[in-house]
Amino acid sequence: MTAIRLTVLGSGTSVGVPTIGCHCDVCTSPDPRDKRLRPSVLLEYDGRVVLIDTTPDFRQQMLRLQIPRLDAILYTHSHADHILGLDDVRPFNFYQQGTIPIFAAPDTLEVVQRVFSYIFATGETESSRPRISVNRLDGSPFNLFGLEFQPIRLKHGRGITLGYRFGRCAYLTDHSDIPPESLAQLRGLDVLFLDALRHKPHPTHSTVERSLQYVEQLAPRRAYFTHISHDLAHVQTESLLPPHVHLAYDGLVLEISNDPPIDLIKLHLNQPTSEPSALTIGNFDGTHLAHQQLFRRVARHGRERQLVPAVLTFDPHPTRVLSPDRAPKLLSTHEQRAARMADFGLEKVFVLPFTKELSQLEPRQFIEQILVEQLNAKLIVIGANFRFGRKQAGNVAMLQEEGLRLGFAVEVVNEFVHRGEAVSSSLVRRLLEQGDAAKAARYLGRFYRLTGRVVAGFGIGKEQTVPTLNLDWGDALLPRNGVYVTRTTCVDTGRVWQSITNVGVRPTFQGEALTVETFLLEALVPPSPHRIEVEFLHWVRAERRFADPAALKAQIFRDVGRAKSWYRHADRAARRVH
Ligand SMILES: [Zn+2]
Ligand SMILES: [Zn+2]
Ligand SMILES: [Zn+2]
Repeated sequence: MTAIRLTVLGSGTSVGVPTIGCHCDVCTSPDPRDKRLRPSVLLEYDGRVVLIDTTPDFRQQMLRLQIPRLDAILYTHSHADHILGLDDVRPFNFYQQGTIPIFAAPDTLEVVQRVFSYIFATGETESSRPRISVNRLDGSPFNLFGLEFQPIRLKHGRGITLGYRFGRCAYLTDHSDIPPESLAQLRGLDVLFLDALRHKPHPTHSTVERSLQYVEQLAPRRAYFTHISHDLAHVQTESLLPPHVHLAYDGLVLEISNDPPIDLIKLHLNQPTSEPSALTIGNFDGTHLAHQQLFRRVARHGRERQLVPAVLTFDPHPTRVLSPDRAPKLLSTHEQRAARMADFGLEKVFVLPFTKELSQLEPRQFIEQILVEQLNAKLIVIGANFRFGRKQAGNVAMLQEEGLRLGFAVEVVNEFVHRGEAVSSSLVRRLLEQGDAAKAARYLGRFYRLTGRVVAGFGIGKEQTVPTLNLDWGDALLPRNGVYVTRTTCVDTGRVWQSITNVGVRPTFQGEALTVETFLLEALVPPSPHRIEVEFLHWVRAERRFADPAALKAQIFRDVGRAKSWYRHADRAARRVH
């Protein structure tokens, strides 16, 4: 992923600090961090510069940091303190010889177009006007120069504002409340910006106390408060905040980390880890809905009881050691699973090498040596049919009994049933083997995906049919042979394309080896991706043999038509939801 550098251009509330006519301690403070221009941040990545909001201080902010270019502007909402600097983009128009795209929700654009009506007026004028192009946001994510932005709906008193999530950072200014569906979009963050006007409640803004609750709930690695009034002195307020929470200040620069926010720790027998943990145990292949239920509970207990929320898992999958012939193909790699666990607030994944020797460990030894001595487990969250140790003789009752003796609590979670079916990794595998990508996605809680390098195909695709990206899918489970509507993402840049994918042996070309070929529905603007992720959205048809490559090509164009109409339909459905 792209590395992002974020600069705080302004951290103040709508009137700024110092405030006109005020002589309070903060307004007269010599600390430069108590001088706050109106709220805005600047993002730099891949040589691009993206701004969130053009405040009345925009000109001064650009000059102060000597910003040399501007590639796009995102708006959070239409209040004066967030839009009034728009006229000052003109120098960038001159230097860059082009228009600057702006992105905003329709109601925000309406106000911008009214307030700056001269910009949008047609006809000749004697003076220069900003040159901008308008992009309406409908709530769906959008890609800007290779980085995906997810708009986040927030309540701002009676109004609505947009926050933005990009990579592992979210910038949320001007909110009184974050609705539950938006909270769900804010997991696994490195950096979270929140509104925190002051201590005293306010009808349209969050307070320090309220935003601290959000930090606790969302557990970002670091949090920064912004849109700050003259009620909060920088130094005094910082001293009241937890070590990973800060007041933002003008000029603050942050590098957003893109490392997975979770530690994958390979365990060696008899190597103790010291911090007390809340733990769940399993293979967690697919990290589906039933697994997610365990992750949520572990994360919650971890927060409430000051325990490290963690997972104990095994490598390789135990069946590969115990009965290799019956071992299933897996739905996910350790890295994919760890990334997903992080989304749910887990902090550590302990990977225990699974060997014949380990499988011979008596259940009580497993509890004592691994769970207690090595992992310092204080709480274990586990499914009701959990079995462990030699001959799978250990069960939940034994775990509870030993917990009383050794000092850890056990929470048993019932089987997770969704639409009448107990959710399990084998159920998801079976659905994928039947080609039912849509149903598998319901149990996974997201679409099934394959990730890997793009490899050279047989050349036939390019010459005889349509250009394709061939995926090296490694060891993962392939869904049933056939054609699917897919979404393809470049792993390195985050670029996203609508696509169709053929899983199969290419019978028209007398193929025998399995391939996963993806055809993008739009032109591929170079550079070509090196590593892609293909998500399987919808089954289109079984693979079949065509008389000649021309007939296959004609069929592929029909498939493309079906995929496009599927996407249009999904888009309409999504708009109805928003
Ligand atoms: Zn504001
Ligand atoms: Zn003041
Ligand atoms: Zn506002």
